[in-house]
Parts: sequence; C-alpha cells; structure tokens
Amino acid sequence: EKKHDVAIHWFRNGLRFHDNPCLLDACQKSESLLPIYVVDPEFPFAQTAGCRAGTIRANFLLESINEVDEKLRKMGSQLVVVLGKSHEVLPEIVATTQAKALFYEQEAAAPVREQDAETIQAIKNRLKRDGKNYECKFEAYATHTLHPMERYLAQCKDHTAPSTYGSFTKIFNKMSVAKEVNEVKEVPSLPNKSVKLLEKSFAEALRMPTLKDLGYAAAADDMKNSGKGGYAFAGGENAAIELLAKNMARSQWVATFEKPKTSPNDATRPSTTALSPYVKHGCISPRRFYHELSKVYSKYNSKETSKPPVSLHGQLMWRDFNYLVGYSTPNFDKMIDNPIARQIPWDDDPDLLLAWKMSKTGYPYIDAIMTQLRETGWIHHLARHSVACFLTRGDLWQSWEDGATVFEEYLIDADWSINNFNWQWLSCTAHFYQYFRCYSPIAFGKKTDPNGDYIRKWLPQFKDMPAKYIYEPWEAPIELQKKVGVIVGENYPHPIVDHKLVSKNNMSRMKEAYDAQKNREPMPANESHSSGL
Ligand code: FAD
Repeated sequence: EKKHDVAIHWFRNGLRFHDNPCLLDACQKSESLLPIYVVDPEFPFAQTAGCRAGTIRANFLLESINEVDEKLRKMGSQLVVVLGKSHEVLPEIVATTQAKALFYEQEAAAPVREQDAETIQAIKNRLKRDGKNYECKFEAYATHTLHPMERYLAQCKDHTAPSTYGSFTKIFNKMSVAKEVNEVKEVPSLPNKSVKLLEKSFAEALRMPTLKDLGYAAAADDMKNSGKGGYAFAGGENAAIELLAKNMARSQWVATFEKPKTSPNDATRPSTTALSPYVKHGCISPRRFYHELSKVYSKYNSKETSKPPVSLHGQLMWRDFNYLVGYSTPNFDKMIDNPIARQIPWDDDPDLLLAWKMSKTGYPYIDAIMTQLRETGWIHHLARHSVACFLTRGDLWQSWEDGATVFEEYLIDADWSINNFNWQWLSCTAHFYQYFRCYSPIAFGKKTDPNGDYIRKWLPQFKDMPAKYIYEPWEAPIELQKKVGVIVGENYPHPIVDHKLVSKNNMSRMKEAYDAQKNREPMPANESHSSGL
C-alpha cells in the first residue's frame, strides 16, 4: 500500500509509545508525520463541554504531553501543541499540511464523540470550501478499552449494554484480549515546510503551554510537592510503567487482590494500584495492564487467585463495562431522559453542596476524604463510595449530577463513563438498588482506621484529638475540645445533618420514589459490587 505523503497523528488519550496501534500505524503508513496535541485554553482538558480540569489534572497532563514531546524529539520529531478548539484549529492544520490522513484514538464518551464528529465535519467542509481535489482519511482506533465498544455491542441483545456485570462477564469471557503491538521506536520526519507555515498562521497559539498560560494560578514548580507522600502522581508514560512494575512485583498481593478488602483510608499510601490516572489518559495501555496481571496469575494455582468482580482483572472489566453502558445509554450523564436512571426528586441546595465540596460537613471522615481529593486529585474507591453516598441518598439528598461535576473537576482520573456510572450506582439511581444499606460517615471509616490517622493526615487540626472522639468530635467534652484545639461550632463545623435521622428519612423518600416508578422497568437482581458494605 502506498504511504501517505503527509499524515497527522492527533494525540488525545493514548499518551504513550508502547502498545499504541494508532501511533504505530500512523508511523508505518506515512512518509512524513505531524504529531499534534490540541488544548482548548478556555476549557483545558475538559471531559464535558464547559468543565475545566482542576489544576492537578492539568499539571498531570502537561507533564504527560511534555514527556511525549521529549521522546519524539529524541527520534528527530516533536509534538506540535496548538492552543484552540479542535473543530477550529484542525481544519486549518489539515489544509495547511495537505495531510492525507488523520490518525486518532477514538473515545467512547458521548461528549467527546460529539466533538469529534463536529471536528471531522469541519475538516471536510474546509477541504470542500478550498476546492481540494483530495480526501483526508479519518483513521480512528478504538483502543482505549480492552475491546472496542462495537465488538461488545455486536453480541448484546438489541445492541444495548447488559444491565448487570454478570451478563457483561459472559460476553467478555467469550472474547480474548488481543496481544500488544510493538513499541514505537522511530517516527517519520516532520513535514518541515508545513510546520513553518503553521508557525506563521498560529503564531503564539503554537507552543507548549504552561499552567499559567491556561489560566491556572499555580506554576508547575508549586505542584512539585502536591500530592503528599505516597499520594503524589507524576504525569507520563515513564511514571506509569514504573508504577505498574512496582505493583506487579508484589505478586502475592496482586494474585489475591480483593477490592472490598482494601482500605479507603490508608494514611500512608493507596491500598489499590493507583494506576487510574495513567489508565485514564492512556499513559499505560489497558492491555499491558491486563496481560501483566495474567502473567502474575499464571505463577499461582488458579484456585489461589482472586476472581472478577473483586480481582484486578475484574477491575479492568468494570472499566470496560462502565464504558459500554455509557456508550449505549442516551443522556447517560443526566437523570432526565436517561432510560436507565430512576427519577429521584433530589433537593437543590447549593450551600450543602459547597459544604460537602469544601470539607465543611462537620464529619471528619467525609471532610478528610474531600480534602484529599482537592489536594491530590485521587481518592480510594470506597472513599469515593462514602462521599458519594453522603452527598446523595445517604445524607444531603443532593443530585448525583452535581457530585459527578465536582469529581470531574478534581480527579486526575476523571472519566466521563466511569464517573457517571458510579455516581448512578452510589445514589441508587441505576444498577444498585439497596437504598436501605447506607454508609455511615462515622462507623465505616473506623473499621479500617480506628485511630483516625487518615483524618489526622488530611485535617491536621485533629492531630491531638483522642481516637475515641476523632470520628465524632462533637461528643468530646468541651474542655477536651479546647485543649486539643478543635472547638465544634467555632473552628470546626457542627455536623451539617444528624446522620441517624436523615439517613432514615432519606430511605423513606427513596422508597416513595421507587414505589412511584414500580412499573417502569423490571429491576435487575442486585449484584455484589466492590462496596464492602
Ligand atoms: P484499582 O482497584 O487498582 O483498579 C485498577 C484499574 O481498574 C483502575 O486504575 C481503573 O482503571 C479500573 N477500575 C477500578 N475500579 C473501577 C470501577 N469501579 N469502575 C471502573 N473502572 C475501575 N474511576 C476512574 O478511573 N475515573 C473516574 O472518574 C471515577 N469516578 C468514580 C466515581 C465514583 C462515585 C466512584 C464510586 C468510583 C469512581 N471511579 C472512577 C472508579 C474507581 O473508584 C477508580 O477507578 C479507582 O478507585 C482507581 O484506583 P486504582 O487505580 O487504585 O484502582
């Protein structure tokens, strides 16, 4: 097959050189290749239109794309970073370079798919307007998951995702995860003439931006110490591969990993792999992760290893399942007109939402988790469960859509499909319906951290609070409160609600909402998820 004179590789997710079929093909099928990354300075690294990434995710992504650039430069190329909206800048770039192909990794998430469609249409329109007598081929690769969504759907009834993990597993088990492709070690040269033209037409917009350029108050140097100890995440493929190797070296732990048995509130380091920021942005390939796990499992008798849904293979399967449900459900990020969402009459109280977001609920366990989220961009799965339940059906009765938006801002691993799926789960909107089982903001954290070390770490004002009162400081005698410097009602809030009362009341509200929709659809059998409830 004749190679393209010039092609473009548009980096989005897939910020890596190992197991990257899209990049590999782009390199092998073109004489000259322009690797580009587009950043919208108004909404940098957004998942959903109009939602900027928080500083920590932005910094993680800048580190990751800087590393891509460094690696490309070692191969005699470079990453051309353009500031602008993809549907505006890409037509210009395609027209200037006269590229015959645009290679990119496809996203399953609806908002990104919609933006892609707009961008591709804009490129077609531009070429037509210019009267170009050639076509640009759009080469999309569905390699962000273990299998492409369409391959799953081909096996699903009515081309719709199954409603349970059990049914998904049956489909998954019929397929085998493809081998990795070779690492990209050389890239075709840049179309130098076109780059010169682009430099002219884009001027200041053609450069690797800094955090400040993108409107963030922090500079990259300020971010160096963020993350605190075991919870720091450096962006990029190198860090991803290192962390994967570190995890795999603990082979017994990997082989017997059971998600519900990991701790939401380990004060020193994550109790799970903490690979999600890297998986999310494709600094590590999901297949590499999956096959490395298989290698570890193969060293053990199969009876000794944990199994899905609780094993690490099981976690990667949850990921594909979440993507699939998000892919095949209209209005997946909303309650209204979302066919799998129960309609719940949530309250709308911005003050409660803000108190939850800014760690002012008066429940130290919840406030510590939200502090960790804001300060590091990562929290454990069961910590996510705890705060999501608290905001919605457990205590504050606020909409899961608002909670998902806050997560989308702060999480490094913020992922449209996984985030919305899990918020629906935790709020008993879809998939999980046992609303009478509720996380206690007091007792749940005590199980794994009776001394409250996690709270002491993230809320340092609690450092001298005796363990007896650390989950319920309002129960401490006032003299003690004064002595340790946490005075409820003065420098730490009263509990925002009485958990015992509201959680019971909320269960009745939920029952009412469910009863009102009894005939809506058959409820799938409840599944045991990784909740540890
Ligand atoms: P591990 O337990 O080590 O799992 C390995 C990998 O499997 C993860 O890196 C991740 O890619 C995948 N994975 C793990 N758990 C899940 C899960 N329940 N569903 C889907 N995939 C999973 N995860 C995100 O990546 N992005 C999000 O935006 C996100 N939002 C969430 C919101 C809520 C309310 C909840 C309850 C969970 C959310 N999760 C999200 C899922 C999960 O909490 C994280 O993926 C996990 O905690 C990441 O830590 P880890 O890499 O150590 O996971």
